[in-house]
Amino acid sequence: MERNAENESRFRTSNQRTDVALDDVYGDDPRGTFEAMCECALEDCAEMIVVDPDAYQHVRSHGRWFMVTPGHVLPDGESTIEEFPNYWIIEKLGAGGERAQSLA
Ligand SMILES: [Zn+2]
Repeated sequence: MERNAENESRFRTSNQRTDVALDDVYGDDPRGTFEAMCECALEDCAEMIVVDPDAYQHVRSHGRWFMVTPGHVLPDGESTIEEFPNYWIIEKLGAGGERAQSLA
């Protein structure tokens, strides 16, 4: 489970870099959407999620939350927080969640 958390945190770091690049373009008033990588624990997942920056920041406001493609949830160790048509917000539970939070 801790390995999963590190896998997900790696994508989170990559997505945050994308978000920083958007800030460079749009400043404090981001517009439009960008593509974030699915932050699930599936090693071969290459799904992209089109999301607006506000929604992305909402997920990032919580250290244990990740933005995933609908259905990309591990029933053992993750719980679904919110379901939207194009993505779900999941929370890492237990040791995996603590590890994810420490890497945030
Ligand atoms: Zn995925």
